[in-house]
Amino acid sequence: MLRNIRMDEDFRHFMKEALREAEKGFSEGEVPVGALVVHQDGRILAAAHNRPISLQDPTAHAEVLAIRAAASKCGNYRLPGAALIVTIEPCSMCMGAALNARISRLVFGASDPKAGAAGSVFDLARSGALNHRIEVVSGILEEECSGLMQEFFSLRRKRSADSGRGTEVVVTGSTRNRLVP
Ligand SMILES: [Zn+2]
Repeated sequence: MLRNIRMDEDFRHFMKEALREAEKGFSEGEVPVGALVVHQDGRILAAAHNRPISLQDPTAHAEVLAIRAAASKCGNYRLPGAALIVTIEPCSMCMGAALNARISRLVFGASDPKAGAAGSVFDLARSGALNHRIEVVSGILEEECSGLMQEFFSLRRKRSADSGRGTEVVVTGSTRNRLVP
């Protein structure tokens, strides 16, 4: 198991890094979710933020991008012993990716009651129907993680209302995104 990163202090340290990633997503007009894959020796193997809009790729969630980059870096399609650190509870697609990668531990900040698949809507981390289990630690820097999401969506709603039509808004700077209300 993860010998060197089991303390709350370490989780908070990594979550701060994941939050920095999420903020990059925010500034690009993406839903602000950040993720890291951390080796069991404590090295950060990969960091990523949500990019489905900019990459025009519905699978480009932070977790999937971080897992892909970490596997590529390790030269292995499996990452046993590694931890996935993510600001928001992963969706079912990302839990599927984590299970396929044999991630050992998931550390997330805030729950996602609408789509979370690590205990909220589904519990794919601890399903007895699957052949791999993922240890889950939740609530790390929860307020910061959920606060960034709330800030993003309230800004989006405000700009959506200001636009008068509610379907197309400028989220940040020159980044122009089509948004479904
Ligand atoms: Zn996801």
